[in-house]
Formats: sequence, structure tokens, C-alpha cells
Amino acid sequence: MGTLIWLVLLVGTLLTLAYRRTDLKTSTVVLGALLLVYLLFGDGGFLWKLLLIALFALFALLNVEQFRRDNITRRLFGIYRSMLPSMSKTEQEALEAGNVWWDGELFTGMPDWRRLENLPPPKLTPEEQAFLDGPTEELCRILDEWQITHELADMPPNVWQFLKDHQFFAMIIPKEYGGLQFSPLACSMILAKLSSRSTVAASTVGVPNSLGPAELLLHYGTDEQKQYWLPRLASGEEIPCFALTSPRVGSDATALVDHGVVCKGTWQGQETVGIRLNWDKRYITLAPIATVLGLAFKLYDPEHLIGEVDAYGITAALIPMDTPGIEVGRRHFPINIPFQNGPVRGHDVFVPLDAIIGGTKMAGQGWHMLVQQLAVGRSIVLPSNALGGAQAALYATGAYAKLRRQFNLPIGKFHGVGEAIARMAGNVYTMMAASRVTCTAITNGEKPSVPSAILKYHNTELGRQVAADAMDVHGGKGIMLGPKNYLARGYEGVPIAITVEGANILTRNLIIFGQGAIRCHPFVRAEMDAARNPDRDAGLIDFDRLLFKHLGYGLSNAARSLVMAVTLARFTDVPVAGPTRRYYQHINRYSASFALITDAAMFTLGGELKRRELISARLGDILSYLYLASMVLKHYQDQGEPAEDLPLVEWSCRTLLYKTQEQFHGLLRNFPNRWVAALLRFFIFPRGRTYFAPSDVLGQEIVELMINPTPTRDRLAAGIYTAVEPGNQLGLLQQAMEIAEQVKPLERRVFDARRAGDIKADDTPSQIDEAEQKGILTPTEAEAVRAFDQRMLDVTGVDDFAPDELRRKGA
Ligand SMILES: Cc1cc2nc3c(=O)[nH]c(=O)nc-3n(C[C@H](O)[C@H](O)[C@H](O)COP(=O)(O)OP(=O)(O)OC[C@H]3O[C@@H](n4cnc5c(N)ncnc54)[C@H](O)[C@@H]3O)c2cc1C
Repeated sequence: MGTLIWLVLLVGTLLTLAYRRTDLKTSTVVLGALLLVYLLFGDGGFLWKLLLIALFALFALLNVEQFRRDNITRRLFGIYRSMLPSMSKTEQEALEAGNVWWDGELFTGMPDWRRLENLPPPKLTPEEQAFLDGPTEELCRILDEWQITHELADMPPNVWQFLKDHQFFAMIIPKEYGGLQFSPLACSMILAKLSSRSTVAASTVGVPNSLGPAELLLHYGTDEQKQYWLPRLASGEEIPCFALTSPRVGSDATALVDHGVVCKGTWQGQETVGIRLNWDKRYITLAPIATVLGLAFKLYDPEHLIGEVDAYGITAALIPMDTPGIEVGRRHFPINIPFQNGPVRGHDVFVPLDAIIGGTKMAGQGWHMLVQQLAVGRSIVLPSNALGGAQAALYATGAYAKLRRQFNLPIGKFHGVGEAIARMAGNVYTMMAASRVTCTAITNGEKPSVPSAILKYHNTELGRQVAADAMDVHGGKGIMLGPKNYLARGYEGVPIAITVEGANILTRNLIIFGQGAIRCHPFVRAEMDAARNPDRDAGLIDFDRLLFKHLGYGLSNAARSLVMAVTLARFTDVPVAGPTRRYYQHINRYSASFALITDAAMFTLGGELKRRELISARLGDILSYLYLASMVLKHYQDQGEPAEDLPLVEWSCRTLLYKTQEQFHGLLRNFPNRWVAALLRFFIFPRGRTYFAPSDVLGQEIVELMINPTPTRDRLAAGIYTAVEPGNQLGLLQQAMEIAEQVKPLERRVFDARRAGDIKADDTPSQIDEAEQKGILTPTEAEAVRAFDQRMLDVTGVDDFAPDELRRKGA
């Protein structure tokens, strides 16, 4: 055989072994067999064959652990230990929060789709469904966002009472303490529904069911604390808030300066050991009306009254708001969404030691408690609120774009407007998929901290895009405030979700990949643990085993990335056939490229990667897009694969995978080591950038699904408040849209008659009159068109006010 054929055989064998992730022993046997065949039949000279035998022998020696450890790993182990970035306790705690789920699969470069398929579709219990259809629907009915945001700057007393009576603040509290004990999925769906009706109500309900006193008590409280506080919180007798942020301390919450000193003092007439606290907090949701404060502060014990430690670090305590020394009641005014939020200050407030959540054994554990709870909570409240708001905006916009006409056409028919509507629909589909599937995973026991950061960032960012598109499509109707405006408050409120629970710039740049890289990588965390092992020999043994697996994994990812890039992933195994198959295959491809570039970034940048925020952000984007595209595919399956929804699946996956490709490109262009970047480009884009964004035609298909009453439109509005009743503009718009379909043939008759010159009048009411007079429409038909025209004017109309009505009565 010619040299070329042997070369092809060798490269093919190496690629196949790497692509299939074959272990070292099996690879050695296969390569040995190939060498044997070559020695017998190949036509190379003696020296050449000797060289090959020597090379193979060296390779085979890698199977001998002792040899490998002494000659290779030991040196690398020393270098690795010296390069290991220092990790603060807070970073370590953030890394330990939650667990690894589908995010981990994407990091392997070879995702096991069964992990996602095994997750059952979302399902509420009958009790949860009844709560959604009963009290939640009823609450939506009595909410009047204009009254709340403009007239009262608060929810009216009957709404507050309704919230307490129906235990909206106790959704996460177990039944044994009198709460509702709803699943994360149910909480998410209830919040999304409320958010489709009132941003203020959704924010108010979200907070006690998120990171706060109830959640912390449940996980860390002593039995006495649980028995005392949880039933009171469940019944609504106590309203909680949680205070971490202060004037000097925002994103870097660990730098907080609010403090408590262990000392002797008087509590309820008795001298006791307690804590004297001083704090100055701001931005605290529910603080102006709360009865109990969850407080984060740094605890000091200079007199060693509770132990040997001087400074314990961040600690969380529960403090009744009527404790002397607390100053509360003033309000901030959050961007025209006036839910209760304000500063709370404490001056020399003395509380007993058992105010510490979990008692003195939890002194200094506050940060750990917070990040553990945030690891899951972040995927529920804000992403669900963003989803509900976006669903409502889309539902309204689709109907509005059909009803509002310019140039004799519904504005949805103009391709420019259609582009915005298609983008809204695709984004809502993505948000819904991410929220439903991730909340179902959490309901089934997962605690995925990286996906929760992905959801927090992307659902709120997509929500911002949906809100902006909705405003653009509505033109002046979106801008004029009043009871008829269903968009502007949601649009104004977007930055709230962007800012809280980890502001988005920080979440994108530091958290998603920053935590994901070490948390989800199949080897890095274990390698770091091995390197930090105080028993150096035991560490070396572990490190050696991990290192060689890691090397094999790196080679495999390079091979997989290259092969799938060359073949456009056509031959990679995925568990589905049919129209979505290609998206699964592209996710496989980009997962391998992602795993490869992650290793390259970590290897070349080491601890410096932490500071290279834009590299980290792009890696986080790639991980996020792959995660979201997987959620879209799973959601489509969970919905029974309705063929009519395929354009949305295609738009979402195409958009996400196209953005993935572009972020790879941006990453390679900015990768600090240019040689490594060139090599990576060969493995990732050997054929250049080949993936395309959704086509205009696809966008127009989606528009038709959104501006007409279709099952797809209904599915995208699932769970939001669409009741047809006075005051609910969403329901009225839908109703008008359905009537528009019925009168369409009649309007067409008038239109044709006008074109033929049989009707001369210019304005619509006169045209209808003329059509009736001339027998083009029967009196009943004319009445139907007239009524529709009036209804259309009504639902697309805006409010006006007497000058006095707009004058503020005082800030
Ligand atoms: C309406 C509302 C309700 C709130 N409710 C509560 C509550 O109930 N309890 C509570 O304790 N707190 C609450 N907060 C506070 C909220 O958690 C903080 O606003 C948030 O942590 C951000 O802090 P900051 O506003 O001081 O912004 P800063 O920390 O000053 O950040 C400003 C910008 O810098 C970015 N940034 C900061 N560090 C980095 C970095 N290393 N890399 C990249 N970007 C970075 C941020 O992303 C942000 O965009 C609330 C805030 C708002 C607005």
C-alpha cells in the first residue's frame, strides 16, 4: 500500500478513537494492531519501522501508572499547584452551591440526551392547578395596575387582605407549618400569571417566596425558630423582608460593613448575652410594611462570649421590626412600579443570640446560606415574572398588529413590524421553554446553580427585548399612560429584574461561566481538589488519574469538534429523527467545540481568566445559548411536538445556534494567545462560519401564527390572565381580534366596492353607511361591521386626563 493510504488509515484510526472517546488501554491495543499490520505489510525501511516501534512503546508506557506518575505527572503536579488560583471562602461557597445537571452535560462535549429525555413533562398537582385557576385568577381579576401604580402607589387594602387570606406569601412554606408547600413549577406559573396582570403584585408576592426569612428558616432555622416563625409567616400575620444591600455595598455583598457585636444587654427586662447591631440598608423590598426583618451583617465577638473567634463573618438574623432602635417606614420609588421598597436602619439594636437563624452554630454562615438558596431561587421568581410579562406583551401585540391599520393594511402585515413580532414570539418561546423545563427539573430534585444564573440573565434580557419590541409595534398607544395602557409599566419595570439577585452585567461576566467552568467541568474541580490535598502523595495519585483522563477528553473534543465541523454534524448520533434532528446535532457539535475552547482558555489563561471578563462572558453566552436551545427542544417534546409550533422551534434554535457561532467567532478574534486562537479556529471553523440566522420567510410564517387566533398563539399565552372582561385589555384585544376574523369577508366586500368605484366615501363609518344604502351589506351585516369598527377604536384607543388629574398631590 502506498504511504498516503497508510497515512489516511492512521489519521482515520486516531480520529475515530478520539471521536468515540475510546479509553487508553483499548486505544493502545488498536494502535498496536495497526502497527503490526504495517510492520508486516508496510513498505517503510527498517529504521523507519524501528522509530515507529519506539514511538508506540512510549505511548504504551502511558498505561503504566507508576511510570507515568514518576516521569510525567509529578512535575506537572508541582507546576499546577504553584499556578492554582487562590480561592476565597466566598468563591468556594458559591461553587459548592447547588448541583450540576444539563449544564454539566454540555461541558462534556458529548451530551447524554437521555438525561434530558428522562425528565418528565411539567405537571402541577390538582391542588396547585386549583390554586392557579381559583385564587390566582381571582386575584388577577381584582388587580387594577393603574390604580396601584398611579393613584395609590400601593396595592389597595382588599388586595393585601386577599394575598394574606389565600396565603400567597406562603407558597414555599411546608404544610406542617400551615403553608401551601407548592412546587417550584407551581410557584413559577403563579408568578407568571400575576406578572401578566400586575408588576407590583408579582414583585410583592415574589419576594417572600424567594430568598428571604422563610426560605432561610426552612433550611437552617432551629426547631424553635421554625415552630415560632413559619406558622406566623404562613398565615400572613408576619410580613417578611430581607436586608443585605447597603449604600456602600451592592454587587459585592461580601464587603458589607453593617455589624453586630456580641455583648451583654437587656432583652425583655432580663440581662442576657446578645448582639448589639448597627446597620444602614437600602433598596429593601417590603421593608416599609414588614413586621420581621431578615438581616445580613458581620458578627464580631471581641470578648469571646460565644467562642474563641473574634470575627465570624456574614451572619443572618431574624429581628422583629418593632425592636427599639429600628428606623423604618420611608419608601423608595422604584421606577414607577411602586411596590413597597425602602431603607431600613438600625442604631444600637440589641437582640438575643437566638435571633441568629440556626442559632450560634450558624454564626458566620450567612453568605453560605444565601448563595445556597440563591442557587435555586434565582431560576424561579425573576425569570417567571419576566416570562409572564413577555407573554402578555406578545399576546397583546399580536392582536394589536391585526387590529391597527395603516395604509389600508393591518400593521402586522408590514414586514418591518413582522420582524419585531416574530422576534417577540421566538423569544417568548425560548423563555417559556427555559422556565418550564428548568422549574420541572428543580421540582424533580435538581438544584442547578449555573442554569439558574442562565435563566436569571437570559429570561430578563429577553424580556427586555420583548418589552422594547412591543413598545415599538404599538407606537403612541404604548406611550400614552392610563388605564388602557397595558405595556408601559412592564416596560418601565424591566430594569428591576435586570438589577436584583445579581445585576445582569455581573451575572453574565462573572457568574455564568465563572462558576460554570469549575462547577460543571468534568475534571477541573476534582483536579483542584487533588492539588489542594494536604496528603501530597494521595493528591498525586488522584491528579495523575484525572490528568490523563482530562488529556484524552481534550483530544476527543478536538477530534469531535473538527469532524462535526467538517461534516456539519450530519452523522453525529442523536436520539430523535424528524424536523428537529439537525438542532440536536448542532448542539452536539458546538458542545464539543465549547469543551475544547474552555480547556484552551483555562490552560492558557489560568487564574487570569477570572479577570478577563469579556472572554468569560462570551464563554458564558455559548453555554447559555446551548442550554436554552436544549430547553427549546425539550419543551417542544413535552408539548407533544405540535407541528404548527415548528416555526417557533426553528426560529429559536436557529437564533440561539447562530448566536453561538458568532460568539465563538468573537471569542477567537479576541483570544489573547493568537497561536492558540489560530489552532482553535482550525478545529472549530475549518469551513468558516456556516450557520445562518432565521430567514425572513420563517419570520413571516410566525407573524401569521401570532396575528390570528391560532392554537400556537394560545400555547404561547398559556397561563396568563386573558379573561374577557371590562378592564382587562388583553382579553378585550383577543375578543376584538376574533371578531375581526368574522367580519373580514364583509369588510372585504366594502373594500372591493370602493376599489370598483361603487362606494365613494372616504372615512370608514360613511363607507359602511353607503354600503348599506347600496345593498352591498345587509342592515345586519352593516351593524356588525359598525360594531367592530367601534370596538377596534376602543381597544386601540388611549386615555386622556383633565390637567388637574395629572397633577401630583405630593411625592
Ligand atoms: C427594586 C429593587 C429591589 C431590591 N430588593 C432588595 C432586597 O429586598 N434586599 C436586598 O438586600 N437588596 C435588594 N436590592 C438590591 C439589589 O440586590 C442590588 O441593587 C444589586 O445587588 C446591585 O447593587 P447596586 O444597585 O448597588 O449596583 P452596583 O453593585 O453598584 O453595580 C452597578 C453595575 O456594575 C456592575 N458590576 C458590579 N461589579 C461588577 C463586576 N465585578 N463585573 C462586572 N460588572 C459588575 C453591576 O452588574 C451593575 O451593572 C433591590 C434593588 C432594587 C433595585
